[in-house]
Amino acid sequence: MSYDEFYIKSVIRSLPDWPEPGVMFRDITPIFKDPKALRMVADAFIQRYMDSELTHIACIDARGFLIASIMAYQMQKPLVLVRKKGKLPGETVHQEYQLEYGTSAVEMQVDAVGPGDKVLVFDDLIATGGTILAACTLIKRLGAEVIESAALVDLPDLQGSIRIQETGIPVFTMLAYE
Ligand code: AMP
Repeated sequence: MSYDEFYIKSVIRSLPDWPEPGVMFRDITPIFKDPKALRMVADAFIQRYMDSELTHIACIDARGFLIASIMAYQMQKPLVLVRKKGKLPGETVHQEYQLEYGTSAVEMQVDAVGPGDKVLVFDDLIATGGTILAACTLIKRLGAEVIESAALVDLPDLQGSIRIQETGIPVFTMLAYE
C-alpha cells in the first residue's frame, strides 16, 4: 500500500480551539480540493480492501461518506450510511454514546445490513473511538459482522483505536497526530 504520508499531512489543515477551546481540529476537507491527495487516499484504501472478504462498507456521517463512497464505487460494494440522529427516513436502529460532555447518537436503517454480511466501518478520524464503537454496536444488533474499522486519521493520545481493538475489532488508520 503506497501513499505519501507527508504529502497528505501537508494538505490536512489543523485548526486550534475549534469547535471549542482546547480542541485541535484536524480538517481533512482540503483533501477534496486536491485531486492528487484525494486519489492517493482513496487508492490506498481501495488497495487495502479490494481483495478482502468484506461485503458492505458502512460510512459515518458526514466526512466518512466522502472517501467511502469512492471506495464503494471502485470496489463495486454496497455502501450503507451511519447517520446522526433524525436524518434517516424509515425504520431505524439507534445507539447513544458518551461524549466528553453529554451524549450523541447514531442511527442506521434496519435493512442496511443483516446476518452473513461482513462490514467495514469507515470514518474520517478516530478520537475517543465512541462514534465507531456505536456504529459497530448497531451493525452487530442488525446481525452482521464488523471485519475491520478504518479511518484516515488517528489521534492516539485519546486511545480510541485501543478501545475499539479491545472489543476484538481490528483498526486501520493511515495517519496519526500525537
Ligand atoms: P470519536 O467518536 O471521539 O472517535 O470522534 C470521532 C468523530 O468526531 C469523527 O467523526 C470526527 O470527524 C470527529 N472528530 C473528533 N475529534 C476531532 C478532531 N480533533 N478533528 C477532527 N474531527 C474530529
